Parts: sequence; structure tokens; C-alpha cells
Amino acid sequence: MTNAYKIIDHTYDVIVVGAGGAGLRATLGMAAQGLSTACVTKVFPTRSHTVAAQGGMSASLGNMGEDHWTWHMYDTIKGSDWLGDQDAIEYMCREAVPAVVELEHFGVPFSRTEEGKIYQRPFGGMTTKFGEGPPAQRTCAAADRTGHAILHTLYQQSLKHGAEFYIEHFATDLIMDDGVCRGVVSLDLATGELHRFRAHQVVLATGGCGRTFFSATSAHTCTGDGNAMALRAGLPLQDMEFVQFHPTGIYGAGVLITEGVRGEGGYLTNSEGERFMERYAPNAKDLASRDVVSRSMTMEINAGRGVGPDNDHIFLNLQHLGSEVIEKRLPGISESARIFADVDVTKNPIPVIPTVHYNMGGIPTNYHGEVVTLKDGDPDSIVPGLMAIGEAACVSVHGANRLGSNSLLDIVVFGRAAAIRAAELVKPGAPHKPLKDNAMDPILGHLDGIRFNKGSTGTADIRDNMQRTMQKHAAVFRTGDSLAEGIDKMRVIVDSFDDVRVDDKNLIWNTDLVETLELENLLMQAQTIIHGAHNRPESRGAQARDDYPDRNDEEWMKHTLAWTDERANVTIDYRPVHMYTLSDECEVVPPKPRVY
Ligand SMILES: Cc1cc2nc3c(=O)[nH]c(=O)nc-3n(C[C@H](O)[C@H](O)[C@H](O)COP(=O)(O)OP(=O)(O)OC[C@H]3O[C@@H](n4cnc5c(N)ncnc54)[C@H](O)[C@@H]3O)c2cc1C
Repeated sequence: MTNAYKIIDHTYDVIVVGAGGAGLRATLGMAAQGLSTACVTKVFPTRSHTVAAQGGMSASLGNMGEDHWTWHMYDTIKGSDWLGDQDAIEYMCREAVPAVVELEHFGVPFSRTEEGKIYQRPFGGMTTKFGEGPPAQRTCAAADRTGHAILHTLYQQSLKHGAEFYIEHFATDLIMDDGVCRGVVSLDLATGELHRFRAHQVVLATGGCGRTFFSATSAHTCTGDGNAMALRAGLPLQDMEFVQFHPTGIYGAGVLITEGVRGEGGYLTNSEGERFMERYAPNAKDLASRDVVSRSMTMEINAGRGVGPDNDHIFLNLQHLGSEVIEKRLPGISESARIFADVDVTKNPIPVIPTVHYNMGGIPTNYHGEVVTLKDGDPDSIVPGLMAIGEAACVSVHGANRLGSNSLLDIVVFGRAAAIRAAELVKPGAPHKPLKDNAMDPILGHLDGIRFNKGSTGTADIRDNMQRTMQKHAAVFRTGDSLAEGIDKMRVIVDSFDDVRVDDKNLIWNTDLVETLELENLLMQAQTIIHGAHNRPESRGAQARDDYPDRNDEEWMKHTLAWTDERANVTIDYRPVHMYTLSDECEVVPPKPRVY
């Protein structure tokens, strides 16, 4: 079977899969520390989804008012609805300040205050004095194109440090040997050749899987391939049921309007022109955390107070901000609103609706970026040779709900942490053990199985069924009955993949094959999302169960682990939440009731 493909071999100290913010920060850090480093990416690095991040990156610099990293830590734990690991959250919030300063020195063109300091805007859920003080201005921004600025800078820095790039290479599977990760295989999209990379550490930085749903702010490339590679390697995903809906996706298009709009003073109204967030969250109002705002909008729509001919969306108003503020601080969203909703934001409100935006779940890791699993009763058992960072990972700093601007922070801080850890674990130039003769068999068998499948159902049809089912049955509000119905439908959809048809058998730029591989990856993850949601009878963060409206800390303050088998059946187990800190400079935040 091996002879059917031309296989090109490479050995490196470390391989990073993914060139978004997380992958590039790791790549540059590893290369800069003298490790031979390659980065494999299916899209050109600066086209990764990080480029679309608008609002900014949180860090308690205190440039525009008093701030402290322990306040940021408190907000993040509260935002996570007590599902976040407090040691990892401490690490992230403390490291945020040097991480932003480092980015500035790398060349990120942040917006500036009058005094020339980095500009910071308020974002949902960010407060001061452990929730007792006024809202914090904590989110560092480069206008409304922060991800763009960060991504370009990190790519340039990676090239400067001599990292090697394999661009438009689709990674298909990890090379595993007795539970140890030894490398990764990719398909060079332009030539159709397979590349076998061996490395002492493989870092999965493949981003989220927003495309499991119909309406998502994320790019079509966000198919969570690394998560599925981990599942196929027999590893679990963690907390996949927690899917964040961003309150303001443009109605009908899904394109994001940043929370920075509300940070700058924009507000939501219903069909009566009422600023309804004042009722749901009297203190934080339009800047309550995303789960709260998304649920409030859905309740308004369900109560018949949505706007538009079908009363099925909400208005976001920023006309009152004036064209000067809009032009200076929010130029990108004016353009998006014009193109995707035909709205001039200086004159009319933008039609918006809650839209899938972020996956809190992913591959479980510790705060060094090392992948962990539950093995022989040890919930923190390290998987040798494998790391995961960014949206693909679940560290878990976001727990049940991520605060806006904490993801750009997460990708940079843990990309850096993974580089630091890899330099401790890997000796530059250390020899590689030979691979077993049959190491490639499951990988090639998997690829051939899909490529030569003799089915009759089109990839796009199966994908559409999956996306609509997930949108309907695993949405902002969930109930046991609706989830159970969704699970039955998903079973039929997953089984229909046996009949998938790949028309193009060629290997050169075969988008048909790549989309089908991505679809298989999405199906596996959709299963972990919907089963996880059904299995968790409580409301916590982004998981809002109408039939179980309360958070149940006694039984459910624990991480879900979900494995899939070859039929995408799901098995579930658990890991404890880390209710301890790394240092004595901060305290554990005990669970508090949900009051907004
Ligand atoms: C529209 C939008 C706006 C956002 N705004 C903000 C914001 O203002 N602040 C904030 O904190 N967060 C924001 N977020 C969230 C944040 O941007 C993302 O969570 C984060 O950028 C993800 O970074 P990443 O490096 O993990 O993955 P990505 O940037 O998604 O990169 C994934 C990489 O993996 C590669 N890859 C994937 N599969 C494969 C494969 N099979 N083989 C090879 N390579 C592969 C891709 O080529 C890509 O390079 C936003 C998200 C969206 C969608």
C-alpha cells in the first residue's frame, strides 16, 4: 500500500502544525531557542483565522486606569463559570503583561493613547477590584484589526529566526507508536506528495471547529483537524459541549461585528427600540459576558420582540458614536456592515444575531502546552511527544465560557509556553528512533478509504445536514429532548458518510478530497459536542439547558472527556477542575452564584 504514494521524509527537532497566532508564536520561540523547527500549514500563514480577530488582546497593563493581573484572573475564573483550571488562568493573566510588551517589541503596531502608550478598550466581563470596581479598560487593540497585526508580525519574526514552512500542506494524521507521538503526515496540496515528518515534539495548533455549525463567524477552514487527529490517535477531547455564541454576527451572513463596538459605546435594541440589556444585566448591560448577551437576545426574539420582517434578529446601534470615532477605532466593521448588510453604520443600526464563534473545548493540556489524558486513574497523564495550543487546545483557561480578548492572549501566552517547554524537553539534533515498519499503515489506510470510497452522496450534502442539525439541536438554548433528537439525527448523518462520494481521484489540488477529509473531522467533533451537551444536565457558561437552568457544582464541576471510536460513537469520562493556584501571590476563587 505504501508504494502507491510518493513519500518524502523529513526530521526536525519539533514540528508545529498550524500557522495561526498560536502556531507562529510557538514556531518562532522554538526556532529562536536553537531547535530545528518546521511549521506545516494548510493555508498561507497570514490567512489563518487569527487574521480576522478584530477587538483585541487582554492584559492588565493599566494604561487607561488602575488594573492588576489578579483582577484579570478573577474575571476569567468567573467568566469560565468555575470550569477553568485556576493554575493555568493564573499563568495566563500574569504572563499577559510581558506577552503584550514582547509583541510590541516584535513590531505589532498597537493603537496609542495621547501619551503614546498602548490603547486599551473595555470588553465584556472585564472588571476591576475583583468585580467590585468599575469596568476595566484592559483590551489592547490595533484599531479593529488586532489579529491581523499580530499574525503578520509573528510570521515575519518566525522567518527571521530561520523556521522552515511547509505551506498548503494538509496534515492528515499523527504518527503514534505505543502511546508516544513520533511525527505527523501531510499531503502537499500542490504536488499530491505525502510528507512524513518526524519530530521529538509535535505541536497541534490547528484552531477551532466552528464549521460544525451552520452559522459561524469562523473561516471555512476552521474544521478542527488537529482535534480529530487526536481522536483518531485514541486521545480524548475535553469540554467540547461548550461552544461560544458571539452575540453579534451579521444577520444572514455570520460575519463578526466585534464586541469592541459595544466597548466603544454601541448598544443593542429590540423591536420596541428598547435597550433590553439593561433589564437582563443591570450593571454590565451590553458588556455582560457573551453567554449572557446571546441568551438575552434569544429570549427577546423568542418573546416576539425581534426586529425585521420575521422578528428574528436584533439591532446593534452605533450611529450615536459619530463618524470620527467609527473611522478611527472601528474602520473594519463599517466596511463589513456595508458589504454584508448594506448598512451605513453612521446612519442605521446593524442587524445581528448570536452566531457560533469559539470552541472552549479541545485537546486537554497542562499550562506548559503538553497534552494530557486520563490514564490508569491519573487525570494529568502526559502524552509523550505531543503538545497542543491555541483554540485547538483546552488548557483550560476559558472553562465554560471565554471572555472576549482572552483568546488572542491565550494563543500568544501558551504558544510561548510550549516553546519554553520544548526547549527544556528536546536536545537540539537528538537522533530519532526508527519508525516501525507498519507505522504508516493506519494513516494510508485512512486516506485511501476516503479517496477511493465508492459512494453516491456528495460531501456538501452531508456537511449541510450536519451543520443544520447542530445549529438546531445544540444551539444557544438546549434541552434534553432536543439534544436526544439531534443525537439520533447525527447518527444517521455520520453513517451516511459511509456512502460519501469523492469524484476527483487525482492528488493534485484535490479540494474535493480535502473537503471530505475535513468533513470527517467535523463529524467526529460534532459528535463530541452534542453528546457532551446531552450528558451534562446543568447550565454553566455557554451550556444553557432549559430543563436544568442551574449550575450544579456538586456533581458537575468537572471536565468532560470524550473519546470516539471508528464509528464516531462517543465514550465519556471526566477530569477534575484544578482548584489551586501556582503561587501564593493570588488566591483560589471559590465558586459564587451566577449574578449579573
Ligand atoms: C471573526 C473572529 C474574530 C475574533 N476576534 C477575537 C478578538 O478580538 N480577540 C480574541 O482574543 N479572540 C478573537 N477571536 C478568537 C481568536 O481569534 C481565535 O480563537 C484564535 O485566533 C485562534 O488561533 P489559533 O492559532 O489557535 O488558530 P487559527 O488562527 O485558526 O489557525 C489555525 C492554523 O492551523 C492550520 N491548520 C488547520 N488544520 C490543518 C491541517 N489539517 N493541516 C495543516 N494545517 C492546518 C491552518 O492553516 C492555520 O494556520 C476571534 C475569532 C473570530 C472567528
